[in-house]
Amino acid sequence: MRVGCPKEIKNHEYRVGLTPGSVREYVAHGHEVIVESKAGAGIGADDDSYRAAGARIVPAARDVFEKADMVVKVKEPQPSEWAQLREGQILYTYLHLAPDPEQTQGLLKSGVTAIAYETVTDERGGLPLLAPMSEVAGRLAIQAGATSLQKANGGRGILLGGVPGVLPAKVAIIGGGVVGLHAAKMAAGLGADVSILDRSLPRLRQLDDIFNGRVHTRYSTIDALEEEVFSADLVIGAVLIPGAAAPKLVTREMLSAMKKGAVIVDVAIDQGGCFETSHATTHSEPTYEVDGIVHYCVANMPGAVPITSAHALNNATLHYGLQLADRGLKAIAEDRHLRAGLNVHRGRVTNVAVAEALGYDA
Ligand code: NAD
Repeated sequence: MRVGCPKEIKNHEYRVGLTPGSVREYVAHGHEVIVESKAGAGIGADDDSYRAAGARIVPAARDVFEKADMVVKVKEPQPSEWAQLREGQILYTYLHLAPDPEQTQGLLKSGVTAIAYETVTDERGGLPLLAPMSEVAGRLAIQAGATSLQKANGGRGILLGGVPGVLPAKVAIIGGGVVGLHAAKMAAGLGADVSILDRSLPRLRQLDDIFNGRVHTRYSTIDALEEEVFSADLVIGAVLIPGAAAPKLVTREMLSAMKKGAVIVDVAIDQGGCFETSHATTHSEPTYEVDGIVHYCVANMPGAVPITSAHALNNATLHYGLQLADRGLKAIAEDRHLRAGLNVHRGRVTNVAVAEALGYDA
């Protein structure tokens, strides 16, 4: 198969669908790989490193879309990209179609077979192509929170780990899934006093085993939530109810009982956020203040660290990508996890949840 990778064109997107390391794997499987010139610039991978991995460099995205049997990307195709897709071609990327009828129409019209990273499943019922970005966002949440807590950035002016003789900062993490676990690892690693709240007792047991007493776990009742949030210097919002908007667990009224200069990092902002006062921000202006509380609500946190994010994403996408390249549509027919990723095929929306959200018949 001829596998193609264009440069990402979405605003401030620096990741790339194929790293040179992934290119080498596709080539080792006998595939031809074409990569748009400078596609890897955002992660410091130049055209020569792609050539050394076995890729052919083509000057424009048009060449990739025209010649590739499978297009591997990161972000959902933009209008100029979906216009170039065609029937018989496989598109393998994040799509997030449910809130995006316009893109859905574009993909349906093109006749392309589109696999969405975010709906591919694994044996344990997880979403393996979404998890690496939650790992990145969870770890980054603590870096963002620590910086925002500095006085010059509007925060209380407290160091997460304290120093000998001075107490560390208190960090409350609401939601102990992938984001919450990785945020807790970073915060605990820096020496902060960390609590994780979750509604799942089995998950709290797992977290207790992982941290072996280093982190407090709490069942997330209203009482527990208020107690943790009101006493925290840094609050991380990391809840997820699959397929639903994030519940507003911290109201505007509650902000007045928090410490002045405390920081909220609402990682769940891509699902609407779990703080009533959250609205999405960007890397160029990541924070704002409401009632003396600093809010950091960047909707694409992994974009800040494209080198880490692109490699983490490739680690997760490579296995399924190779299956698609090796066996084409047969791989989708024979593997239910890949089939769960199939969102659009020959003019039809094929994923039930996506179809329901958009009012199509699956
Ligand atoms: P996850 O499913 O692994 O974890 C979510 C956790 O929330 C689960 O353990 C669940 O039990 C818990 N939860 C649900 N309701 C709760 C409640 N009322 N109180 C306490 N806990 C509750 O999800 P994840 O991968 O950790 O993702 C968390 C959020 O972060 C999602 O909205 C995801 O889309 C988002 N995310 C954002 C970015 C970004 O750049 N902003 C990047 C990656 C992920």
